[in-house]
Amino acid sequence: MRIKDLLRRRALDALETRILLRAVLGMTDAQIAAAPERELSAPELERYGSFVRRRITGEPIAYLTGEREFYSLVFGITAAVLVPRPETELLVDLALARTQRPEAPAVLDLATGSGCVAIAIAVNRPQARVTATDASAAALALARANAVRHGVAVEFVRSDWFDELAGRSFHVIVANPPYVAQGDPHLARADVSFEPTSALVAGPTGYECLERIIARAPRHLAAGGWLIVEHGCDQAARVRGLLVQAGLAGVFTERDLAGLERVSGGRV
Ligand code: GLN
Repeated sequence: MRIKDLLRRRALDALETRILLRAVLGMTDAQIAAAPERELSAPELERYGSFVRRRITGEPIAYLTGEREFYSLVFGITAAVLVPRPETELLVDLALARTQRPEAPAVLDLATGSGCVAIAIAVNRPQARVTATDASAAALALARANAVRHGVAVEFVRSDWFDELAGRSFHVIVANPPYVAQGDPHLARADVSFEPTSALVAGPTGYECLERIIARAPRHLAAGGWLIVEHGCDQAARVRGLLVQAGLAGVFTERDLAGLERVSGGRV
């Protein structure tokens, strides 16, 4: 089959077809557009067909291609981690805005997953000392590989929240923890259902991880240091309440590009 036949009979939308073709052929969009007569080899066609079948069942495209762009950087992605979301870029923006001082700020990213937040901070704030944790060994292995890919030295620690960080403090702590409640209908969405439950579901209320992080963070913040967390778009008021209750000042919420309350924070 030729590229042009495949594009004409495509089973997915144009964008997804293009992403999968790029991955299968190892060609850029421009090269694909310039070669409509190119025949797909049998193995290429088979790989493409299997991608399409998996995509139709809802499997995220990032798990098929093994990649996702976040903060203008390409990250390796596996089914061991959440697929980076565009709204999480806000967490990076807010952290970068709070790491201009001191000269070499210590930054902690809790539950780093693919490492995308920690690595985006490290790339854009080279003088920062960035530490990232995850409870999952598979996630940490992937995050380490992503740090190598982007040439940054991030310290990775296998830890359940702050458990392995006793006595350490940071100028900025960021986290995109699991914050979905058990049984939330969102979890049944085709693509979300392929993602690790451990990265999505916090417990019966959805606030369990946020509560633990916010209660324990003040002990790990340097003077004037910030805690910044992502949360569900209907969780902001309660998260601000938790931040105030933990004794943090300057409590704020920022909206994501969709206009939803997505990230909140406060400082000691
Ligand atoms: N925002 C994610 C979603 O849409 C949830 C991420 C999380 O729980 N940290 O599924």
